[in-house]
Amino acid sequence: MSTPNFHDLISDAQLHKAIDALGYTQPTSVQLAAIPDALAGKDLLVSSKTGSGKTAAFLLPSLQRILASPSANTNSTRILILTPTRELARQIVKNAEQLLRFTSVKVAMICGGEELKYQKALLRKNPEIVVGTPGRLAEHIAHKSTEFSGLEVLVLDEADRMLEMGLHEDVLKIANTCATQRQTLLFSATLEVKGLRHLISQVVLGDAKEIHIDDAPNRINQQMILADDIKHKEKLLIELLAKAVYEKVIVFTNTKIKAAQLDGLLRYSKYRVSALHGDVTQDQRKIALDLFRQGKTQVLVATDVAARGLDIPGVDLVINFDMAHSGDEYVHRIGRTGRADAEGRAVSLVSAADWNLTKGIERYLRVEFEKMALPGLTASYKGPDKTKSSGKAVGTKKKEPTKDKKTSVEKIKVRERDKKNIGKRRAPSATNKSVDVPTVVVDGFAPPKKKISRIEDADE
Ligand code: AMP
Repeated sequence: MSTPNFHDLISDAQLHKAIDALGYTQPTSVQLAAIPDALAGKDLLVSSKTGSGKTAAFLLPSLQRILASPSANTNSTRILILTPTRELARQIVKNAEQLLRFTSVKVAMICGGEELKYQKALLRKNPEIVVGTPGRLAEHIAHKSTEFSGLEVLVLDEADRMLEMGLHEDVLKIANTCATQRQTLLFSATLEVKGLRHLISQVVLGDAKEIHIDDAPNRINQQMILADDIKHKEKLLIELLAKAVYEKVIVFTNTKIKAAQLDGLLRYSKYRVSALHGDVTQDQRKIALDLFRQGKTQVLVATDVAARGLDIPGVDLVINFDMAHSGDEYVHRIGRTGRADAEGRAVSLVSAADWNLTKGIERYLRVEFEKMALPGLTASYKGPDKTKSSGKAVGTKKKEPTKDKKTSVEKIKVRERDKKNIGKRRAPSATNKSVDVPTVVVDGFAPPKKKISRIEDADE
């Protein structure tokens, strides 16, 4: 029997048009496995990696369901998708909008960092599809600005990461407002992470079917090269560009100044370069991207902000000149390559300053970057002398200067009338001069525990 195609799986004509427009020809393994069961209304627990096509695996059956039956209850959101980070939410919204482009169905995104008032107004309109992060949605539930009593499908995307980020309680609060007869689709890199089965028992109400997709190949070869300093990184970059095999390459830096410098350096080295950073105007940006898309330039130097949302076919090498500041940023960068069935390679240049970030990202993604060196350019830096169990360097955190406790004296209010000894006669309040004033040691408070959203925080 031949492998089913999208026409065998999905019956909605508008969705077919959108799938064709996206250039999806064949469903991926996770789509083949999950779509028929999801369409049959089953609750699903799916383990599959990022990059396997899992977004369409939960979007397509859910969208087909709402397109096939006009809403019985127009006062309620019909599909709710929870995902751990804003970045992932943005990608899901983008993918959903691409799939819905031939329909009038709207998608609302509800994440932190945006105005509550605006979001409340958005939620009052009962958008049919809501994509959001648990923290902000739980806040809206506390404010009674939304609830999901008419919900038909609840999707938990990257459930393992939501747990790792301490979002269990928020997910529960939201799930408790969802209709009990809903369908629940849970996706996770693995189902065997601590606490996940407990969460599943609380939010997945029916008899769920488990689907494990192990064959999704790791299409991006992730490597690192140790570097001594910036000058050394520049030499490594030139050598990599000269020796590596690629069609198109994106070089990421953390600052626009560095991006501009590398743009100059590479042009000087006779590369055809496009640059995207904060100092590039909108017009220049469009030209730079068009040239890169058409293959007239082969190298794109970019900062993260400038490269958001780029989807350029043919990028098969990403070089992190500076290591990304967070795991999400890293995933976003390397996601420019190895899209769908294409192979990709990501090389990070790692100096002492990048070491801890690199180790944090490896742990976050549960990968170990392949270490490599370029002949004649091997770094003297070999990594930190001592490392913790996390792989991070020992003793790199700067110590707070210890306060001299005796000098930490409570500030005492000196009343004007005490100074002048005027007005109503009563005992003066304590003065700075008084030898009897006890020395008050002001203890510091421990900083509030942060939710893990950046790699620096995710460790330990
Ligand atoms: P995801 O795992 O959902 O993040 O998907 C990774 C990438 O694969 C995205 O760029 C999708 O647009 C793309 N993609 C998803 N499904 C397919 C498919 N069946 N054929 C080709 N590309 C796909």
